[in-house]
Amino acid sequence: MKCPFCDASDTRVINSRLVADGLKVRRRRECSTCNNRFTTHEILEISFPKIIKKNGKLQHFYEHKLKQGILRALEKRPVTDEQIDEMIEIIKLQIRKSADQLSTHQIGEIVLAELKKIDEVAYIRFASVYRKFADVQEFRRELDLLNQ
Ligand SMILES: [Zn+2]
Repeated sequence: MKCPFCDASDTRVINSRLVADGLKVRRRRECSTCNNRFTTHEILEISFPKIIKKNGKLQHFYEHKLKQGILRALEKRPVTDEQIDEMIEIIKLQIRKSADQLSTHQIGEIVLAELKKIDEVAYIRFASVYRKFADVQEFRRELDLLNQ
């Protein structure tokens, strides 16, 4: 990897760390010429599947839409930006690993599984939008499941 500061071709890895459930590698590098440091990410390259909308139409996957929904659910919750970024990476990798086509419902379930791990309130918020709870009882059942 070339140095982005002075263009020298000799840079060395000073630290490697697995992130996003081990599916991504973050490396700190140092230039042997100017001693500047920079970070690189090595990530599995698989393209995103097409998303099947409720009306049956196929659509591209848009990361910002995914992020919007997640951020809304996590509003004012005690979760750091780093945790959110990490979670989004994990969700994106799971989406990439799945079938050629994925319904918005399936994506919702992937998001829910990850939200459940980091914040239960956000999980319930997201679930109430995605699953469109039919009534208060269904909502309560979901809360009870969390408390088990
Ligand atoms: Zn350099």
